[in-house]
Amino acid sequence: MVPKPPLKILLCAPRGFCAGVVRAVDAVERALALYGPPVYVRHEIVHNRYVVESLRRKGAVFVRELEDVPGTSAPVIFSAHGVPKAVPEAAAARRLFAIDATCPLVTKVHREAEIHFKRGRHVILVGHAGHPEVAGTMGQLPAGAISLIETLEDVARLAPPDAASLAYVTQTTLSVDDTREIVDVLRARFPVIVGPHKEDICYATTNRQEAVKRVAPMVDALLVVGSPNSSNSQRLREVAERAGCPVTQLVLRDEDIDWTALGDIRTLGLTAGASAPEDLVEEIIDAFARRYEVVVEQVSIATEDMFFPLPRELRGEAAE
Ligand code: SF4
Repeated sequence: MVPKPPLKILLCAPRGFCAGVVRAVDAVERALALYGPPVYVRHEIVHNRYVVESLRRKGAVFVRELEDVPGTSAPVIFSAHGVPKAVPEAAAARRLFAIDATCPLVTKVHREAEIHFKRGRHVILVGHAGHPEVAGTMGQLPAGAISLIETLEDVARLAPPDAASLAYVTQTTLSVDDTREIVDVLRARFPVIVGPHKEDICYATTNRQEAVKRVAPMVDALLVVGSPNSSNSQRLREVAERAGCPVTQLVLRDEDIDWTALGDIRTLGLTAGASAPEDLVEEIIDAFARRYEVVVEQVSIATEDMFFPLPRELRGEAAE
């Protein structure tokens, strides 16, 4: 038998599930346990097909819009990304049993936007068009009260109604470095703009990016376990690329690994986006172990102990 070539895997920590994703997935599982199937979920509860499929098998029914939910007394759960205000309002009008699994760190951004609006400020949201979190944050304020910017060019093009009364908020899963650059340019162009102390990028996004920055220059290739539609997973791949890693891939499952593109590697960095479960990281390590003599070493830049309690309707006596 031909001996397998050696491969050192540097496992980034923290990686994978964040407190907001744990809470959202637990909310669906708890609702299924308490009320039985079906439990309706608006949008993917988190951006991971593997997680969504496993909840679907247990009785969760995923719908695109609230209109797709029939008249029912079954729970209807809103995803971790947050929803425009019109969605809970429509659910209340239909007397649906709505449970909001929006991550508390996204809700915090919603409240910031509302406070700025009440104080008469036009709100700039730094984020990616089309992402559900952006739709949810924009939908906290009336049309025209919030403008989305994605790039430095957008800052240059901005024509706010009153440059003396402006505020900004950000999506929680952006690139820390890109956002800092955009915010610096925003502040230079509108010195009176009001914003959070730091950006609204959450602790989980920040920590996962920091760990990748540490590992990326030490490895021949870096794999991010996550879905192509997961914003924070995409950002991790970009961060690795910018930190000088020659080969980077975003993979959902082991079958997605492009072995040819990896070439003759001796060291591999491995991380996972905030919506990717540890099972999938293990699946990827197993795939490498079939081809290489693998040694795994963890590189940790922080420990996380963040915990968010379940939505009120699913806690202890409230649920009973
Ligand atoms: S990535 Fe951050 S904001 Fe999004 S669910 Fe996780 S903790 Fe919440």
